[in-house]
Amino acid sequence: MTTVRFAPSPTGWLHLGSARTAIFNWLYARRTGGRFLLRIEDTDRVRSDVKFLEEILADLKWLGLDWDGEPIFQSRRFDFYRQKANELLEAGKAYKEGEAIIFKVEPGRTIEVEDMIHGRIMFETDNFKDQVLIKSDGSPTYNFSCVIDDASLGVTHVLRGDDHITNTPKQILFYEALDLALPRFGHMPLIMGPDGAKLSKRHGGVSVQEYKNEGFLPEALANYLILLGWTPPGGIEILPLAEAAKIFEISSMNDVQAKFDIQKLKWMNGEHIMKRTADDLLPLIKDQLQRDGFDLSAVADVYLGRLIDLYRIRIKTLREFGELADAFLKDEFAVDADSWQKYLDPPANRENVREFAARLEKLEDFRRDAIEAVCRDLARERSLKAADIIHPTRLAVSGKSKGAGLFEIMELLGKDKVILRMRGAVT
Ligand code: GLU
Repeated sequence: MTTVRFAPSPTGWLHLGSARTAIFNWLYARRTGGRFLLRIEDTDRVRSDVKFLEEILADLKWLGLDWDGEPIFQSRRFDFYRQKANELLEAGKAYKEGEAIIFKVEPGRTIEVEDMIHGRIMFETDNFKDQVLIKSDGSPTYNFSCVIDDASLGVTHVLRGDDHITNTPKQILFYEALDLALPRFGHMPLIMGPDGAKLSKRHGGVSVQEYKNEGFLPEALANYLILLGWTPPGGIEILPLAEAAKIFEISSMNDVQAKFDIQKLKWMNGEHIMKRTADDLLPLIKDQLQRDGFDLSAVADVYLGRLIDLYRIRIKTLREFGELADAFLKDEFAVDADSWQKYLDPPANRENVREFAARLEKLEDFRRDAIEAVCRDLARERSLKAADIIHPTRLAVSGKSKGAGLFEIMELLGKDKVILRMRGAVT
């Protein structure tokens, strides 16, 4: 049976590159009806932290991944690694240096790797030093524990980042020395920033957590990460994980570096936001607003639901909802200062807003059609375009020059607030 694994080290937050590795392993397991295992590489007792572990597991679940069986912890298997290292000692393939156990690398050999993504890669053992298996503090090295576990768990395909390419020939030497069956290897080109440099904070963030906090949907982030390693047939871009799992092939993974493009990710997030219903979005937007410091104690779900209906097609991240629609949620809302000046400084505009407010005051039925009729009548009487009244009014009531249609905005805000804000803006 196909068995793959994801093997995070809980020494930091889940990096986008690692999340992508996890996703591709998961896709391959689900595509082939195989197993997707989770192995926690917590051999570094000092740097490993349970807070990282918990967040990594939560992030994987958030992305929509599930794993088979319980996670395996390397920190609980030190005896097993030592036993395997002792076998190599006894066989004369390793030696001791103090408490450390070191593997003898046979010089003059060429190790060939038939990589599933890059094709054939050759390595000369003359370039390798002898390899530490067990360090003097008793902990195993990454290369050694990785091989022991991959073999004992029956891993058939090792799919990981290019940063591990040079580890692979060393690992192959251990497989041979212990007479273990080799898995197949595939190395994914790393994710780079648009400038070709290693992905970093200035490209928009490196951890899954940062994107979660910014208001990206898990299905959008997962979808985008898929495209950073594989081009689905037919150039499809919007592809949920479950769909990708039906058609994914390792052999068609990209062997060139992927460029991370935050604008493309935002576009994709917007597409996935539009696919969600307002009901679906409600709890997510509430969480986001609360994280971003909004007080929702006086905001009813029905009201928020109507607001989401108005704004969901206009936002690229959940955070943008609060930025764009803050005037509906608090009285101290952000104002787009340049537009305010442009539209609310000219005396003629101020007079129009004043008159519009006066007429709205008399309107009993404060619904969008009726509000619009008042606006259009006023424009006609004064030989103006409706836009001449709409722009300044929109700024007065919402502080923004963009957003939902003005009459919808006004209906939802309600007559009292609307008139108060219009008057406040022009007195
Ligand atoms: N713990 C290693 C890492 O996070 C795992 C590498 C591997 O998949 O073998 O990079």
